[in-house]
Amino acid sequence: MSDRAIPLSEPHLGGNEGAYLNECLHTNYVSSVGPFVERFEREFARYVGAAHAVACASGTAALHVALRVLGVGLGDEVFVPTLTFIASANAIAYQGARATLVDADPATWGMDATIVVEEIERRLQAGEPLPRAIEVVHLLGQPAAIEPLVRVCTDHGIALVEDAAEALGARYRGGPLDGLHVGTIGRVGCFSFNGNKVITTGGGGMLVTDDPELARRAKHLTTQARLPGLAYDHDEIGYNYRLSNLAAALGVAQLEQLPEFLDAKRRIAARYDEALRDCEALTLPRRTAWADQSWWLYSIRLRDANLAHDVLEQLTAVGIGARPVWTPLHGMAPYRSARLIGDGSVATWLAATGVSLPSSVHLDAEDQSRVIDALLRAAGRT
Ligand SMILES: *Cc1c(COP(=O)(O)O)cnc(C)c1O
Repeated sequence: MSDRAIPLSEPHLGGNEGAYLNECLHTNYVSSVGPFVERFEREFARYVGAAHAVACASGTAALHVALRVLGVGLGDEVFVPTLTFIASANAIAYQGARATLVDADPATWGMDATIVVEEIERRLQAGEPLPRAIEVVHLLGQPAAIEPLVRVCTDHGIALVEDAAEALGARYRGGPLDGLHVGTIGRVGCFSFNGNKVITTGGGGMLVTDDPELARRAKHLTTQARLPGLAYDHDEIGYNYRLSNLAAALGVAQLEQLPEFLDAKRRIAARYDEALRDCEALTLPRRTAWADQSWWLYSIRLRDANLAHDVLEQLTAVGIGARPVWTPLHGMAPYRSARLIGDGSVATWLAATGVSLPSSVHLDAEDQSRVIDALLRAAGRT
């Protein structure tokens, strides 16, 4: 048996990446001016079904600009889940706004929509101010329960932003959102193309919206808010957040392969499901009837924190890239004093018992069997 390392999630550069990069080199278009940037935006918008897409230097930059164009500013409050990658909340802090952390929903691991709605109702009764925005995160490829949030945001003029960095390709099924991609339901949605995400540009992100004015402003801000013309005239303080043509060339090539990537991820998930179904020491990811997951990282829960710890250690020891899920933000130094909705115990429990398994699109059957065998051994099955 081979003991080659099996990474958690690594890029698969199996298409036109080389050809498109060469085209950049031959045409001398390497920076943020170049045909691939607009092509990537156009093709990405078409794929997810958004009217506009703005390519950004990272997913974090996309989130930052999204909050800014939605008018989130100094002292404003934004709801965000406590169980997420820290970038979701940092984007709020960059605007001088306050993140209020929301406990997780045990079904989707995303923000618990029920306690958000209860909190909004409580505040309305008490005459307390409402948040300026709600930032929902689709965690690990699983669409969040967004419908109740859409309703509450529409009714009370709260901006809904989607952090879809981990869930490109996931969609809602049935009901009023049938067929819609994550990231296209709120006023603005953001994606990431970091090296370990569903598709990669080396580093990059995308902001999508149906609102032409928000898209125009977002693009303007990502290009230092420079006005057209020869002179260096700027009408506000912008950022150097535009994606380069080199990165966009990778993006176009990766997007061409996305349907295959998603098929591969579905196959990997089905195989884990099948092989792990009877193991009583663990719980499989829940399949929600109202959504198609993209299975970015297939993630299970172990019976308790001690077992999760042992499993992580044993898999790591044999070169298998298993990882805990995100550390809840409410226990972390930068967000320890943030307000918390719910007591954070669900997020803490998911973080302590959750384990993500290798999910690269080119994970072959042999390597996946190695992961499964090692996991079952570590979980005490064999
Ligand atoms: C990866 C990620 C981001 C940030 O994306 P970058 O491209 O790395 O800046 C934001 N939110 C979540 C939930 C992520 O997983």
